[in-house]
Amino acid sequence: MNDTILRKENTNLGFIGLGLMGSRFLRRLHAEGWRVRGWNRSRTTTLALREYGFQIEETLPILVQGSDVLLSSLADDKAVRAVYLGDDGVFANVQPQTVILEMSTISPDLSALLHREAAKRGAKLIDLPVSGSTPAVEAGAVTLFGGGDPKTFLRCVPIFESIAKQWYLMGPASAGIRMKLVVNLLLGINMEAIAEAVSLGEHLQLNRHVLLDVLPKTAVIAPAFSGKFSKIKSNDYSPQFPLHLMSKDLNLVQSVAGQSHAELPAGSATRRIFEEALADRGELDISAVASYVPTLANHNNPVT
Ligand code: NAP
Repeated sequence: MNDTILRKENTNLGFIGLGLMGSRFLRRLHAEGWRVRGWNRSRTTTLALREYGFQIEETLPILVQGSDVLLSSLADDKAVRAVYLGDDGVFANVQPQTVILEMSTISPDLSALLHREAAKRGAKLIDLPVSGSTPAVEAGAVTLFGGGDPKTFLRCVPIFESIAKQWYLMGPASAGIRMKLVVNLLLGINMEAIAEAVSLGEHLQLNRHVLLDVLPKTAVIAPAFSGKFSKIKSNDYSPQFPLHLMSKDLNLVQSVAGQSHAELPAGSATRRIFEEALADRGELDISAVASYVPTLANHNNPVT
């Protein structure tokens, strides 16, 4: 078995999925001196990346075949299935000993399947979901949760050092993704709670600007949310973490909670609110829930 630590001088990285997160990870790895190439399903998304000087491959097989390490950041289970299990997908082309860092937020069941399929081909897969949104990716300050073989995880530390401020091996296959769902339950509930708190403050006739300036300075607001207050203040809900992905994650949370008999009353209420907000706010940032919660009372199906 190959235990060599991966070095930027002699390791070819291939990044799959160049959306909000993937495009930023690829740019960061390139800026840190790694030998990178990328691939994305839609070509239009990649046009803006041309100026950075790395290769964007036309086809997924070309990317897979020439990479020592594959990283992927894809929307959801459907996207990951298509990319990994499709006829011309990752597993149809991957070479033995290739390291795969799968960073998408997907179901633990699919993550476990990817681990099994990788092992059949002699590839080394780590599930490596990300905590932190696009500003944290740009700053190299995300948190990574890993699941899989400890030796493979250790080999990848130089890559982690280039993109993250901290990384944790949570356990064997799919432990990273299970931890990510725990974290995103908190993310969703906290975002919804902030939306409610702001709404209450406005109903109590507090000045909106003062309220939005002071609230993030209190000890009850986690650092991950401090940037959301300026978005709410300026009604700028351009996406960092889009609401439809948060809704997807809360559906995953509900599913694993059902399987494991965990009771999540606040999580269930939050999931419904995000789902209802999808229709006209799905592509916006999760902070757009602050513009939705105050109008809930006008809906036919208020949350009780
Ligand atoms: P995004 O901007 O929507 O990008 C999604 C990517 O998935 C795009 O490259 C898209 O390709 C690809 N894709 C979707 N369906 C596909 C399919 N059927 N076949 C092949 N490719 C497909 O999402 P993102 O914000 O980068 O998020 C990526 C992952 O990271 C998600 O699992 C998300 O939950 C997770 N995450 C996001 C954040 C965040 O703040 N944004 C933070 C932590 C974790 P096209 O361009 O062709 O559509």
